[in-house]
Amino acid sequence: MIVDRETRPFVRAPRLPALTALALAATLTAAAVALAPGPTTPPPTAASPAAPSPSSPAPSPTQDSADVPRVVNGRVQPTPLPIPRRASGRYRTAPGTAKARGGTGSLIRYTVEVEDGLPYGPAEFAAAVHTILNDPRGWARFERVPSGPARLQVSLTSPAETRRRCRPLDVGLRLSCFQNGRAVINADRWATGAPSYRADVATYREYLINHEVGHGLGHGHAACPGPGRRAPVMVQQTKSLFGCRPGPWPHPDRDL
Ligand SMILES: [Zn+2]
Repeated sequence: MIVDRETRPFVRAPRLPALTALALAATLTAAAVALAPGPTTPPPTAASPAAPSPSSPAPSPTQDSADVPRVVNGRVQPTPLPIPRRASGRYRTAPGTAKARGGTGSLIRYTVEVEDGLPYGPAEFAAAVHTILNDPRGWARFERVPSGPARLQVSLTSPAETRRRCRPLDVGLRLSCFQNGRAVINADRWATGAPSYRADVATYREYLINHEVGHGLGHGHAACPGPGRRAPVMVQQTKSLFGCRPGPWPHPDRDL
């Protein structure tokens, strides 16, 4: 049984990515600050999209506006969506098949499913997962199928259902696990990332999928090899980077 239990608070985070993020944020918001100085606009959500004030002479093109992508570490970030603590408890499987990338490595068949009631559709989540799993830096070549036989399932799950599905492991409402053939992906993490990756949710998603699927392929946890080194993907990076740099890929040095 494998669990990513959160036993201690965030300890350290890499300095360089943070500086890069700050530099990018400064670049992107410079024009907006010149036009409309004032308090920072909070990120928009699906329930309350950002809208210009009626008294504003013109829309403010801030980094967080709905029209300008949010970029961190040079990557466009997903729009943050509110995740309900509890959803339906029923999964819907992504339909159709998606071929694995080319090559000669081992081929793994898998399915993708999303709990009904989350603000992500199965096809949308499946496409994102498939891209991650078939990256040349990933574990293997993955073919998505709509039904078995399959080696594993990748299942986007509400926090409450994650806690239930991971039993008898205790993951609380914040962590993910691999249990009973399923990478139970906590939708709250998928939506908002983790403190160790700061605002780079796009990169955290790669880590999250590769780490939990790694458990499904039989890999156990690894340790940070030393301060400033890149973390192996099987380090429990959601909890902390333990002095390492983020490492979302199983084979980070493979050519893209
Ligand atoms: Zn783990």
